[in-house]
Amino acid sequence: MEPHVPKLPRFDVIIAGGGFVGLALALALAKLAPAGYRVALIDAEAPDAGKDDPRASALSASTRRLLTVLGVWPALHSEAQPITSIEITDSPLNSSLRPHFLGFDRDDETGDSGASMVENRHLRAALQETTRAEPAVETFAPDSASDFRVTPFGVTVTLAGGDEIEAGLLVAADGKRSGLRERAGIKCVGWSYPQTGIVTTVAHAKPHHGRAVQHFLPGGPFAILPLKGYCSSIVWSEDKSRGEAIMTLDEASFVAELTKRFGHRLGAIALAGPRQSFPLDLQIARTFVAERLALIGDAAHAVHPLAGQGLNIGMRDVAALAEILVEGARLGLDPGTASLLQRYERWRRFDSAFSAAVMDGLNRLFSNDNLALRALRDLGLGLVDRAPQLKRFLVREAAGTTGEVPRLLKGERV
Ligand SMILES: Cc1cc2nc3c(=O)[nH]c(=O)nc-3n(C[C@H](O)[C@H](O)[C@H](O)COP(=O)(O)OP(=O)(O)OC[C@H]3O[C@@H](n4cnc5c(N)ncnc54)[C@H](O)[C@@H]3O)c2cc1C
Repeated sequence: MEPHVPKLPRFDVIIAGGGFVGLALALALAKLAPAGYRVALIDAEAPDAGKDDPRASALSASTRRLLTVLGVWPALHSEAQPITSIEITDSPLNSSLRPHFLGFDRDDETGDSGASMVENRHLRAALQETTRAEPAVETFAPDSASDFRVTPFGVTVTLAGGDEIEAGLLVAADGKRSGLRERAGIKCVGWSYPQTGIVTTVAHAKPHHGRAVQHFLPGGPFAILPLKGYCSSIVWSEDKSRGEAIMTLDEASFVAELTKRFGHRLGAIALAGPRQSFPLDLQIARTFVAERLALIGDAAHAVHPLAGQGLNIGMRDVAALAEILVEGARLGLDPGTASLLQRYERWRRFDSAFSAAVMDGLNRLFSNDNLALRALRDLGLGLVDRAPQLKRFLVREAAGTTGEVPRLLKGERV
């Protein structure tokens, strides 16, 4: 008699990690792949874990188009604050005036290249709600993918409780410290910045009129990003030891430090949310794929948050991988087929490395008080300000609309 081999629950794709990027990929596959396609989504966090996240994200026009095709944007639209202009300044901390060197207004040609600010808790809730309504997605949360092994038939994933599930492809969307990337033996290149990222929300007396401001200060970039109403999100990169000391200040002293950088243009300010700090690093996986494994989002690349691009770059991974997998499924291909994974690797790795390098270069160029460098960079910013075509290129680059753009980022169904 044949030995009894228990049959494991079988999916086409298993996604480990239910952050923004994992959720978006699960939705894209559920909505666009042929009928019968099955996706398992495993997330270590309970579904309501993100409700206290004080962060907000600048969603590029491409990310908004992707969210529109996925049916998520309508639920978010009323929570989003469009960024109508961006102002960049470069000055020492104690300067009373911060002359602005570079300004971007909304792209006149398309009218929609600007980013929109959305609080992370709203984005997560909208993605989760839309995913819950998709019968093609089975969610395992809170649970985690503790191990995986490639078999002759696909990939078997072990859940924290010991249960196993299998699929043709495992997608690691488990964030910057990806345990699955480590288990696959994929190394990263990169380094930690001698900076801390401080994030909070402030309320101010005067309206922001949709203007985002990036002050390049010697300790690191300080961004003021407009939220709905009389509030702004702060992403404040500071020299590491100074940043750690600032985090321990009582509220009045913290607000005094904040005001030194925020300025007085929006009137008196007060904290309107908790403060949190994050280590900042640059990290790119040496490869984005292995046998029956693909990395997406922060698991594949983590960049300096100075241009608010981390999530947007992750959404470009989602759009590219979804396009490749959906086209493959229509041809009847196994999602773990090596040629599909190589196409994903070619499409995404160069773009991610390029974006990370630009962010790193900007941070290095600006995070110091060297007078000669200041003169040089201010000349550079002034030149960009007066060169409309170069400015438009930079806006499109930030919006993710240069290079080979996946169809979902253009708002088209695959
Ligand atoms: C200070 C700061 C400000 C930022 N501001 C912006 C911004 O304005 N705009 C922008 O685009 N980006 C911004 N970013 C970057 C952005 O937050 C990240 O790029 C984005 O959240 C990455 O999403 P992700 O889904 O790849 O990873 P994560 O959000 O880290 O999600 C990973 C998920 O995987 C789960 N997980 C981990 N291990 C396992 C496992 N073994 N099994 C199952 N699940 C697991 C975790 O619980 C988590 O839910 C900022 C980052 C920082 C640090």
